[in-house]
Formats: sequence, structure tokens, C-alpha cells
Amino acid sequence: MGEAPAPAHVDIEELLRGYDVDDLTVATVCSHTSLQIFHGARKEGYKTLGICLGPQPRFYEAFPRAAPDAFLSIERYTDLLRLEQQLRAQNVVVIPTGSIVEYLGADNFLRLRVPTFGNRKVLQWESDRARQREWLDRAGIPMPRLLPDPAQIDRPVFVKLHGAKGGRGAFIAKNSAEYYKVNPQVPHTIQEYVVGTRYYLHFFYSPLSDVGYRCSRGTLQLLGLDRRDESNVDEMYKLGAQEVLRDLGIYPSFVVTGNIPVVLRESLLPKVFAMGEAVVETALDLFGGMIGPFCLETIVTDKLEFRVFEISSRIVAGTNLYTTGSPYADYLADDLSTGRRIAQELRAAASKGKLASVLS
Ligand code: AMP
Repeated sequence: MGEAPAPAHVDIEELLRGYDVDDLTVATVCSHTSLQIFHGARKEGYKTLGICLGPQPRFYEAFPRAAPDAFLSIERYTDLLRLEQQLRAQNVVVIPTGSIVEYLGADNFLRLRVPTFGNRKVLQWESDRARQREWLDRAGIPMPRLLPDPAQIDRPVFVKLHGAKGGRGAFIAKNSAEYYKVNPQVPHTIQEYVVGTRYYLHFFYSPLSDVGYRCSRGTLQLLGLDRRDESNVDEMYKLGAQEVLRDLGIYPSFVVTGNIPVVLRESLLPKVFAMGEAVVETALDLFGGMIGPFCLETIVTDKLEFRVFEISSRIVAGTNLYTTGSPYADYLADDLSTGRRIAQELRAAASKGKLASVLS
């Protein structure tokens, strides 16, 4: 098992002392899903704050309905640790995104003494691939098989380099000869290559709601689905077969550059909810629950079986497709984005006097 970030020592009840829970400011870093988070928070009547490096980014001028009410301009992300008191004085709640966790670093994020939406303890299970596999295994989630020994390669495999951002350096080998040709000299994982179609499932778990798809505690919603557009792998076929390109020094990369809306064959929905529910229940057992948005990153085979290759336990960028609803969110409410759903959860928790149960 690899190194997981140190546990959070933030006492949320203490952080919320002195907060005016009816006058929260919803804050996030100016990147990733910020337009949607600000847009949704505003619809729910919240003030918004955009955290940016240097001068405020100009692209918000182009999107006035999704621009934050104010900006907090800092020189480096770790300045947030210095500004904790100022943020708390404004009743700030930080909405975590992949950008915040990456820019601030997992350890700093865990010790930030500002209330954040969701349960920060999830990071200890998510940020390390071995622990993540343990969590999903315990939940009974089907995943791509691991092949710990290259000599065992008897099928196409996907080789992932440890800690590589955006799938950099990952490669596909159709047999062991292709693997040994690359022969990576850095730590890596060899997975079976799952042949199928990719679906990224956007869930929302509310520990407070009791109306809808009920779990042992709270309810689970499906707010949308997307597929990621990855450069250069998604278009490299235009140049020819990967083997030929490799000889020219051109390798596939998996850097996400955009997202595409999709819907799922309806008969797969029971499996989708069963998987979502299983990770929610296991999260409750392991670390007190995963609150709010999360995403299962899946491949569906032609046997209509899911393989989950990753879980992301916060809002994912694919939700940016659905700023005013999705083919699934429309069956829950009008005009419902994941950003807005987060703001609604804050509102519901505050009105029940249970803000601490959706923050950490
Ligand atoms: P990751 O580095 O896990 O985010 O994966 C990067 C890309 O590889 C994504 O396009 C995934 O769909 C794809 N991928 C990841 N794992 C597998 C797998 N075991 N089989 C096939 N494709 C995969």
C-alpha cells in the first residue's frame, strides 16, 4: 500500500463557530468547474468568491451570469493557509475541485482551516491507487484485472506509470513482446486492457435527503454522464495504426481536452445505481461517507459488463456539459447542474441545522 496523505485534523464544528449559516459565501478556484459552481450558487442565492493566482482572469467577463461576485487574488495557492481567518470571517465554504487539490497539494488541502464541502477524509482512500482499489474491491466493484508480473501478459494490457499526470507515458501493449519493447524502467501498473465504450457516471450522494433512491443513510442521484475527449489518442487513428506511429516516435497520450455528452442504454441503469450505492455504503463504513458529487469512470464491454478503472470523489469537469440540466437531472428537477445541486445541499443542511454533516 502506498503513502496516503496524513489524516485531517480539522474540527468542523469548531470552524463553523461564529459562522452566519444563512449568509455563506461559496468559493472555489477559478478553474475546472468554477463557472458552473458560481452559476449554481448564485441561483440558490449565495454570494460567490473566485480564488485566482495573480490578476482576475478575464474570461469571466465573457460569462457574466457565471462570474463570481468577488475575487481573491493570491500569489501562490499556499497563501490560502495564511488567509484562513479572513476567509472564515466571510463565512466562506470552499467547494473542492481537482484543481484545488492538485494546486494546493493533498496535505495542505487536508489541513486548510476553512470549511470545505464534502468529507476530506476521502482523499486518503482516493489519492493512492492501491487504497482506491481496496475501497472499490470491498464494495464489490468490477475493475480491470491487474497483472503484477510482465511474464503473465497474455492479453492486451494498459500500462500506467505511477504518479504520471494526465496519463502521461501510459501505453498499450497487445502482447508481452510489445511491453518489453517499451520496457518502462519506472514504477508502473499493468492492467488488462478493457475493450469497450467509456462512460463517466456523475453521481451525487446526500446524507440528509430521504426522498429518492435511498441508501442505508441518505439518497443517491445520477446527475449525468459524459465521455472524455483525450488528446492525442482520440484522433491519432487518422495518422494510421499505433504500431506504425510508434516506429515514428509518436505515442498515444491521454490528456483530457474536452467532454462529450452521452446517455446510457437504459437497461444498464440498475447496475449503475447498484455500483454507486455500493461505493457509498463502503465509504460510510471506511471513513464516514463520501458526501456530494463523485464520479465512477467506467468501460462497458460488449457483454454489457462494467469495469470501473477509477473513482473521483468530487465534482468532475464532465458535469460542465449540463449547466441547466441533463437527460437524467431533468427527471429530478428543472435547471439542475451539479454546481447548483451542491448549493442546494448547503441550503438544505443549513436549514436543518446540520451544516457540519456536509462539510469537513
Ligand atoms: P487513467 O490514467 O486511468 O485516467 O486512464 C487514461 C485513459 O485510459 C482513459 O481514456 C481511460 O479510458 C483509459 N483506460 C484506463 N484504464 C484502462 C483499461 N484498463 N483498459 C482500457 N482503457 C483504459
